[in-house]
Amino acid sequence: MGTAKKSTETKAGNTLADKLARLGITRDRDFVLHLPLRYEDRTHLCPLGAVQPGRAWQVEGTVINTDIQYRPRRQLVCLLEDGDAKLVLRFFNFYPSQQKALAVGKRVRAFGDTREGHYGMEMVHPSFHVVAPGTPLPDRLTPVYPTTAGLSQENLRKLVQRALARDPAYLSETLPPWTRHPRNLWDFEQAVRYLHEPPTDASQSALDEREHPAWTRLKFDELLAQQLSLKMHRRARARRKAPRLPGDTSLTRQLHARLPFALTRAQHRVIGEIRRDLARAEPMQRLLQGDVGSGKTIVAALAALQAIESGYQVAFMAPTEILAEQHYRKLAAWLEGLPVTVAWLSGSLPAKAKKKALAAIESGAAQFAIGTHALFQDEVALPRLGLAIVDEQHRFGVAQRLALRQKGIGDAHQLMMSATPIPRTLAMSFYADLDVSVIDEMPPGRSPVATRLVSQRRRDEIVERVRKACASGRQIYWVCPLIEESEKLELQTAVALHAELTAKLAEFKVGLLHGRMKPDDKANVMAGFVRGEINVLVATTVIEVGVDVPNASMMVIEHAERFGLAQLHQLRGRVGRGSTESECILLFEEPMSEAAKARLKVIYENNDGFEIARQDLLIRGPGEFLGARQSGVPLLRFADLEHDVQLIEAARDAANELLRREPAAAGAHLERWLGGKQEFIKA
Ligand code: ADP
Ligand code: MG
Repeated sequence: MGTAKKSTETKAGNTLADKLARLGITRDRDFVLHLPLRYEDRTHLCPLGAVQPGRAWQVEGTVINTDIQYRPRRQLVCLLEDGDAKLVLRFFNFYPSQQKALAVGKRVRAFGDTREGHYGMEMVHPSFHVVAPGTPLPDRLTPVYPTTAGLSQENLRKLVQRALARDPAYLSETLPPWTRHPRNLWDFEQAVRYLHEPPTDASQSALDEREHPAWTRLKFDELLAQQLSLKMHRRARARRKAPRLPGDTSLTRQLHARLPFALTRAQHRVIGEIRRDLARAEPMQRLLQGDVGSGKTIVAALAALQAIESGYQVAFMAPTEILAEQHYRKLAAWLEGLPVTVAWLSGSLPAKAKKKALAAIESGAAQFAIGTHALFQDEVALPRLGLAIVDEQHRFGVAQRLALRQKGIGDAHQLMMSATPIPRTLAMSFYADLDVSVIDEMPPGRSPVATRLVSQRRRDEIVERVRKACASGRQIYWVCPLIEESEKLELQTAVALHAELTAKLAEFKVGLLHGRMKPDDKANVMAGFVRGEINVLVATTVIEVGVDVPNASMMVIEHAERFGLAQLHQLRGRVGRGSTESECILLFEEPMSEAAKARLKVIYENNDGFEIARQDLLIRGPGEFLGARQSGVPLLRFADLEHDVQLIEAARDAANELLRREPAAAGAHLERWLGGKQEFIKA
């Protein structure tokens, strides 16, 4: 039975429809938007004797011999002749049908790369077909499409051509002239036909670089579809009803009064933006962005109190236990004496405590629930949820983010916080349906962090440096190497590093913090570090997000070359919070990959999170940056966020115009690009 099932599965995975689905083609009309990767010029024939090595040619000749040879491995060798010269066609993978087609006496037209072989010029793995003498040459460039195993270019070309001819509606214009003309955009049909079969005088480089006006039109259309989809999403949200949470300042005023510092201007500004959103009946979806240490937590706390004093509940979610716990402690301290009951919920809470917390949340007795993603599991009922706050939003994967959006946060207001700034192009595209508030100013009294790159060979010097720092009362984070493949190995490394430093720095206290520790133990170690009893804290990346110990003024990161840019920036942000001069030492091990070198250079040269994120986007590309690669959600296919900034802006304006003046056209446009099925990825 098992085998039977397997065989049907294989079969099912290999129908033409399956192959096309892998290319994103699920409807006949999708072929129209399946655009070539590049082109081949098959409009000329080169005499066999004139073929030069090192590029692609098209040739024609008569088969004078075809056989299978076995040295050095099995291969099909066909000898062509055109009266003046001969040329070998060589195939290492071939079907019997191909061998048959290349029968002696047949006239064959072949296109492929040439090289100098043992017996003269040869073509390896050309595409070819048998022709009658005098068969005319194409008068267009030949498209090469993205394809998948088992689907030949030849077949794909036919399918595309058939779709182009089938239904004029596939090629209909979705943009009104007043959108097209001022922007000098080509007609849709003209552009699509041009891209599928460009004339021979087309500039191949403009086509390859996707700078040709025909490409411009298609990229514009794609970006427009994205903008329309985000805007429609946004409109749908605006129609939903959230509770109005204007607040009566009974709680917020008290928190303001007891803060040990004055808010920065930027904090005041974003608090104002959030205040206004909360007072409205439209669910807020706001992203609060601010570099590491810019003070987002207090902004969240004030927003939470406004919701609570309006009679609603607040859920505050953090990506790790350590961070959630720290928020819990910090907020509980800030709120002490105020009439607010805070509940703490995490996955690892003992059953009894968890039950108690759940009951308090469910009955509404606890107005403020703080925890990890455990907060948004099914068993948790938040009957009067008015505001959901997600800290370090970028740390949640795309899937979790989508789940969160769909989950019954229902129509509560949402505040997402992130220390990873979104580069402008992403903000305009993938994040366009969110409102963004930016804290662009640091609290006063921060000292810049000096960053040093040090080779692993000089590790002993660094240990001495740490010893001196400890002696002068400073506290140090020593970050363990990241081992993504194995949490177990990472743990072993952390334990070994802790043992090493305990031995080498015997006169000081070295603590250890890693993800596998029991929450209580973690909390104890953290508390010891906060109180200054621990001098050096050996930690895995559990400290990456949000941990706040102002007295820590030095950080050593081992194998810094293994970390991502955003991670390095976040880690480094753990120091430089107090007024002492801080430093971050990036230990690296050679040899390093080019990408690792590029990352370390960026982190060494930049302190500004925005610039680092921009560089990160350049190095990794948007798919990785957004964490979308694993999610399978489609990113843009044709437009390029780095090069097409102006097009993104144009598409954004056009989307607004279109929705206002001709919503039916907007619908048709979306139908073409998204077919009402797929969705562009959202923040
Ligand atoms: P992040 O934005 O990285 O989450 P936090 O909210 O953790 O930053 O704030 C970092 C530190 O700065 C905390 O100790 C916080 O209490 C402090 N802080 C926040 N706002 C101010 C301010 N306006 N003046 C001084 N310190 C502040
Ligand atoms: Mg934070």
